[in-house]
Amino acid sequence: MMYDVNRVREDFPILSREIYGRPLVYLDNGATTQKPRQVVEAMVDEYYNVNANVHRGVHFLSQQATDLHEASRETVRRFINARSTSEILFTRGTTESINLLAFSFGEAMVKEGDEVVVSAMEHHSNIVPWQMMCERKGAQLRVIPITDEGELQLEALEGLLHERTRIVCCTQVSNVLGTVNPVKEVVRRAHERNIPVLIDGAQSVPHMKVDVQDLDCDFFAFSGHKVYGPTGVGVLYGKEEWLEKLPPYQGGGEMIKNVSFEKTTYNELPYKFEAGTPDYVATHALATALDYVSGLGMENIEAHEQELTRYALERMQQIEGMHIFGDAKERDAVISFQVGDIHHLDMGTLLDRLGIAVRTGHHCAEPLMRRLGIEGTVRASFGLYNTKAEVDALVEGIERIRRMF
Ligand code: PLP
Repeated sequence: MMYDVNRVREDFPILSREIYGRPLVYLDNGATTQKPRQVVEAMVDEYYNVNANVHRGVHFLSQQATDLHEASRETVRRFINARSTSEILFTRGTTESINLLAFSFGEAMVKEGDEVVVSAMEHHSNIVPWQMMCERKGAQLRVIPITDEGELQLEALEGLLHERTRIVCCTQVSNVLGTVNPVKEVVRRAHERNIPVLIDGAQSVPHMKVDVQDLDCDFFAFSGHKVYGPTGVGVLYGKEEWLEKLPPYQGGGEMIKNVSFEKTTYNELPYKFEAGTPDYVATHALATALDYVSGLGMENIEAHEQELTRYALERMQQIEGMHIFGDAKERDAVISFQVGDIHHLDMGTLLDRLGIAVRTGHHCAEPLMRRLGIEGTVRASFGLYNTKAEVDALVEGIERIRRMF
């Protein structure tokens, strides 16, 4: 199938907006993606025609809302190829998924003197929850270093794994460098020592086919809003044998079997981890988004974005004073850069005046910024609807700003 990006763009009303009288060039997809009409319409339709609280009602609408919500779980299961819907937990997003895991895993598995391994290129969301848990438990955080090219130092990982290591937590794609990490290899090495692995999939799920059984990871987290779905919903995948062992994260409705003042027993998976009314409209819309990208074909999206990234790197490297951070052999649709001594905030602000939306700053990866010896970068990140003409607009914009300074 030919990937027709102009046809795809028609599904995204916001892309025809003008910003300061110029066509919007949206290159902040790493932060959040725009929503296709199909996703927004699924939400409107559910609120207008179905809305009722799930799981607890005998009435028709509650049943229908429950069916949509549980069908969405099956869509997520299929999308990441989990074994069972018991392994799919709905959360508010990657951050909540990791907080859930850090808390529950910490309670059950981590003791004083134990260690948790993260990588030097993690987002704060995959550092701070582990740090908080380590503080609570008297455990230590250990860090897999990276090379100057922005790749994981796998040999160093070997030295970090030992009998006190409880879990390894690693991003599949860096939200700053675009590095695609060899997470399957990380999992293999950790599993040789019976250590489980969490993969942060926030930046991989929107761009490539993910198969959790093939990766063999024990846990996997991602956010709906970064994969063309709504805000406020995300997923934690966990192997059933692990989730069975872990205690609940929050208490309240839906996560219980029986409650008395003496003792509460917990619901079965996945509900044990889903206290309170879930955002069932968002879960349905997330499933709609996953169906949408599946319909386009993840391999087509990946090929389109890879081509775009190659083109952007080629053109950007020709700009005088251009410094691109990260030069991994395998990389994704994220480009962090600085030009000469132009401050990233100035660059971002001036690009905005040209209608070009990029992100500036530390990208919630302060330890990585420290490793790179910088305070921040400008980041352009591509999505399935971006075009070469938009890359050209970015390059021309950067050139124009560079000449101003
Ligand atoms: N992990 C990575 C690699 C990210 O890029 C992000 C978001 O920028 C997150 C985690 C946190 O995602 P959310 O804010 O949707 O919870």
